[in-house]
Amino acid sequence: MSYTIETIAERIGARRVGDTPATIDWLLTDSRSLSFPEETLFFALTTKRNDGARYIPDLYSRGVRNFVVSKETYKKVESGELGQFSTLNFLVVSNPLKALQKLAEQHREQFQIPVIGITGSNGKTIVKEWLHQLLSPERVIVRSPRSYNSQIGVPLSVWQMNEQSELAIFEAGISEMGEMRALQNIIKPTIGILTNIGGAHQENFFSLQEKCMEKLTLFKNCDVIIYNGDDEFISNCVAKSMLSAREIAWSRKDMERPLFISKVEKKEDCTVISYRYLDMDNTFMLPFIDDASIENSLNCLAACLYLMLPAGKITERMTTLEPVAMRLEVKEGKNGCLLINDSYNSDLASLDIALDFLYRRSQSNGLKRTLILSDMLETGQNAPTLYRKVSQLASSRGIERIIGVGGEISSCAARFDMEKAFYPNTEALLHAISRGELRLENEIILIKGARQFGFDALTEELEKKVHETILEVNLGAMIANLNYYRSQLRPETKMVCMVKASAYGAGSYEIAKTLQEHHVDYLAVAVADEGSELRKTGITASIIIMNPEMTAFKTMFDYKLEPEVYSFHLLDALIKEAEKEGITNFPIHIKLDTGMHRLGFAAGDMPRLIERLKGQDAVIARSVFSHFVGSDASQFDAFTREQIDTFEVASMQLQEAFPHKILRHICNSAGIERFPGAQFDMVRLGIGLYGVSPIDNSIKNNVSTLKTTILQIREVPGEDTVGYSRKGHLTRDSRIAALPIGYADGLNRHLGNGHAYCLVNGQRAPYVGNICMDVCMIDVTDIDCKEGDTVEIFGDHLPITVLSDILETIPYEVLTSISTRVKRVYYQD
Ligand SMILES: *Cc1c(COP(=O)(O)O)cnc(C)c1O
Repeated sequence: MSYTIETIAERIGARRVGDTPATIDWLLTDSRSLSFPEETLFFALTTKRNDGARYIPDLYSRGVRNFVVSKETYKKVESGELGQFSTLNFLVVSNPLKALQKLAEQHREQFQIPVIGITGSNGKTIVKEWLHQLLSPERVIVRSPRSYNSQIGVPLSVWQMNEQSELAIFEAGISEMGEMRALQNIIKPTIGILTNIGGAHQENFFSLQEKCMEKLTLFKNCDVIIYNGDDEFISNCVAKSMLSAREIAWSRKDMERPLFISKVEKKEDCTVISYRYLDMDNTFMLPFIDDASIENSLNCLAACLYLMLPAGKITERMTTLEPVAMRLEVKEGKNGCLLINDSYNSDLASLDIALDFLYRRSQSNGLKRTLILSDMLETGQNAPTLYRKVSQLASSRGIERIIGVGGEISSCAARFDMEKAFYPNTEALLHAISRGELRLENEIILIKGARQFGFDALTEELEKKVHETILEVNLGAMIANLNYYRSQLRPETKMVCMVKASAYGAGSYEIAKTLQEHHVDYLAVAVADEGSELRKTGITASIIIMNPEMTAFKTMFDYKLEPEVYSFHLLDALIKEAEKEGITNFPIHIKLDTGMHRLGFAAGDMPRLIERLKGQDAVIARSVFSHFVGSDASQFDAFTREQIDTFEVASMQLQEAFPHKILRHICNSAGIERFPGAQFDMVRLGIGLYGVSPIDNSIKNNVSTLKTTILQIREVPGEDTVGYSRKGHLTRDSRIAALPIGYADGLNRHLGNGHAYCLVNGQRAPYVGNICMDVCMIDVTDIDCKEGDTVEIFGDHLPITVLSDILETIPYEVLTSISTRVKRVYYQD
């Protein structure tokens, strides 16, 4: 329904500034939900945490022209503080929230339809959604979106009523005394449902009673009210409140009550409920067995009976009630897991519902039943009692494995008699998963955490991403490669592992952590920032900085990052800075140029270098090294031997000048394999660690696999073209699949137009047309595949060297080009 801006101004008693004609369909309080700017009226609400006035300039630029503002806000408008506006309407009121409520109240006045108002401590949203499921086949129903039940949510819900509405269902929730009156005014329910009054928050009786009475004010002018007649506390409050409404109090004990529940029989996966209403006996089956669901269904039953839904229809629809989606979300997880995400509050009742749901889901699929549970906050019970109950509940629903997160639940670990693991916080759990220490496979997993625990990140981690490009990193394969190269070394030879450039694209932290656990002697990165990042995440191994920047000496001192030193200029600056900081014997690594002619001291610089080092005690040479130019190819073997000889002499000169041991090293991956006599004291392993043999481009144990999925498949006639600039010519009618990966992800544009292929279900699918920034197209005409199927860009089955050869480059470049927006996923067999 729409109103003119004049009508609205009049109804809320606003002073109107501006005379732009406007018709309003939408009310907005949260600028993020804007969709129809021209027909929207924005209420600039001021809350404790936020001032809606801040959003006016942004909304104005997005086309909103109608604003309800407070007098204070309007002063800011007048003073130009919020920018300059033309052609718009300001409705100035003393309190924008009150204006919003008033507008909703008057809107409500126009409708004579039944309106159900639901309040209570728990179950409001479920009762609302279930009533909708039960009653909507016959009626056009308007209801609160999600759980819009607050002082702001209720007016926005009521605003949705229109000429077509035949029944309305609204929730009302309060956080402070006195709030219900305002909500009553807006909702004006004709049917009231009180779900329950929770004692969960441990209030004393009087405040609980006060709370109950406050809630009952919602029902002031109701024709009928519905509640649990067996709850003495509620019954007493209702009696005291002297409401004039008819009552449908349901009871399992008292036959005199208007709705008598004669039998509640819990079966394995459903509950059979018999009832008597107006002298008629009937039965229905509810597909849930937890107490909260039973209570919710009885409240729904009473409302349906009152609205004269025939008993047969009630029975029919009760059996198909579904869990309310916003609470329990089922998602497909990785490794054959099924995830049940319960973002609802974490009390025992809701745990029971969720466990029941999990149990029923698990019966047909044979998955292992797992519960991931955080500390349950605000239950008002002491930890030992609470977790004993949780453990009992879990066992009764066949839970086979518990993963607890938080201090409290961890302290009660002993109470759980099943496979178990406990973590102090969500980060620790995530970490265990990403490192492969905790493996979840073929399990049905209930994820239930209190809000503070931020389980969203957990769900995200476990969820199978269908539209995602990932780089899968096999840590086990990397360790196998490490061990292979170690087996080529004398036992006393030390090793530097190169984790520069994000560990050749694989992601430096996880790789460094794994290498550290395998006791490599040094890690090496390119710049100081890469090193400090590793330190911050807990890497304690020695780290060499290959390209130390003059501006980053302080970072290096602070984080104990050992720089490579390749020139007198750098050495002098470093010594000066170290002396200023009062640092002594800071380890450095001397780089010699033996033929690469990139960086390094020349052999002839040795005497001067020795002299410079001797004249100070700020830094100390920990190692001396050089780098091969062509150790991978036999055509350069003579040159490589020259390099070794030059290094031998110059490095020896340095060593002989000092009493302490200076480690000497020159071999890279290829050098380790081809020049075993040149191991000296240490070697530097790079590409070999990541599985690519630098000698013949063969793959040892493949570490990185770049994967994506098919977004869309279409049939394209043979005479059409695919992609930008009409480059993708077809030779026949074709099936073309689009993939969510492009050159911005590191898929080189030169691979397009049939120059290369990827693998779809093991078969080669050539790239068609130009590769775009974020997407590319492939030809799958002869491949049996569907949308959502996995595609391998390179990796276990399509060696990366195939791509690097086509691109006339080296695998190093392909690996390090994969952009950071591609998520790295680690696993370890
Ligand atoms: C990158 C690098 C290495 C490792 O080389 P690979 O060919 O990957 O084994 C060794 N030493 C230095 C100085 C490097 O920069």
